[in-house]
Amino acid sequence: MQNPFQNAMEQLEKVTKVKNFDKEFISRLLAPDRDVRISIPVKMDDGSIKIFEGYRVEYNNALGPYKGGIRYHEDTEINEVKALAFWMSIKCAVAGIPMGGGKGGITVDPKTLSKGELERLSRGWVKRLADILGPKKDVPAPDVNTTPEIMDWMADEYEKITGDKTRATFTGKPLGKGGSEGRGPATGLGGFYVFDSLRAQLGLPEKCEVVVQGFGNVGQNAAEIFVSHGHKVIAISDSKNGVCDANGLDLKKLAEYKKTNGTLAGFPGSKTVTNKELLEIKCDVLIPAAFENQITTENVNAIKAKVVMELANGPTTPDADEVLFSKGIPVIPDVLANSGGVTVSYFEWDQNLKGENWTEKQVFDKLLPMMNDAAQKIFQKAKENKTDLRRGAFILALERIQEKIN
Ligand code: NAD
Repeated sequence: MQNPFQNAMEQLEKVTKVKNFDKEFISRLLAPDRDVRISIPVKMDDGSIKIFEGYRVEYNNALGPYKGGIRYHEDTEINEVKALAFWMSIKCAVAGIPMGGGKGGITVDPKTLSKGELERLSRGWVKRLADILGPKKDVPAPDVNTTPEIMDWMADEYEKITGDKTRATFTGKPLGKGGSEGRGPATGLGGFYVFDSLRAQLGLPEKCEVVVQGFGNVGQNAAEIFVSHGHKVIAISDSKNGVCDANGLDLKKLAEYKKTNGTLAGFPGSKTVTNKELLEIKCDVLIPAAFENQITTENVNAIKAKVVMELANGPTTPDADEVLFSKGIPVIPDVLANSGGVTVSYFEWDQNLKGENWTEKQVFDKLLPMMNDAAQKIFQKAKENKTDLRRGAFILALERIQEKIN
């Protein structure tokens, strides 16, 4: 299997076969502006020093400061971070926000660290990178396994080092500490707005049966939002297991069950399935909301969903994407479907710089038309160019970046 950056570059190449772009412009997007690797020494609770590997990739800032989350995961490596940073450049352009693309990470399983170790590691990442960060330079955010509390430690460390009190260098902070109302559910909600905008055009029924892979910030929020709008979540999974109930899962009870038992498996009234089986369940909408490379040539022919909506970044490999396209299964691409997260991050940054605090309603009222606009523009681009929604999204984004690149 290709690494995520190879997948991302293959997606870019595929777009240039559908629409002619200036070769020099495309060649500038084949590598990031800057790719920084750091060693972070952390004093562990037992007094020893452990060195962790960290990253920040600044991909492209034609539209504004680099923007993108920080991922903590044991499998995080530079090619993953580069791919995610590239997709952020496309995503910010798709969402129509004045931000460029970046991404960061640390190779670590945060579950193996104490809270103190996690805080020292997070502050260490900022110490190494403070020079290249800043509200007008590079604005990180949370991603997998990074929380509002971690963003708060990072914002605090940045303030200590630079004296900048705007707190606008990190988004995804807690409420009351510079965070925005609505940031928690923003990615799932933005995904729902995109789905709702395109539902009829994609031939989906008014009430859909939905399968969600991932029970984290994005997956759980999205599942709850779909249910609150009358759709049925018939299966959902975390990293270990999935559970399935054709009558629709009670997500509140499921969350309580997982909290008590540490697993989704055995939830009363449901059937426990593997993650592999979960992806193959017949449904209207399949939502991968966990990690990259989940729908591949190995399982794509077993996918029985009418539509795939990617809330995770890069869950479908380029080869699998082609199979879905040829089978007439639309894929609402990550760069559109999960762009609600970065859009509300941008709102947070904007509020910090202006010294404002918007209500949740103000945030969601601003988010909805932006998601609708992006979804409809991409649908039109795909139609005009007789291609899929991913290439439609890339065309829209590349046109916007090309206009501003110098
Ligand atoms: P998270 O850490 O909150 O949750 C990840 C979830 O995935 C967890 O429930 C974990 O148990 C589950 N998981 C891990 N491996 C799995 C597997 N093989 N199968 C099924 N589930 C698995 O992370 P998150 O913030 O929800 O991010 C999920 C995805 O969404 C990532 O691809 C991330 O880049 C993307 N994303 C997140 C945001 C955001 O605002 N948080 C924004 C845009 C995109």
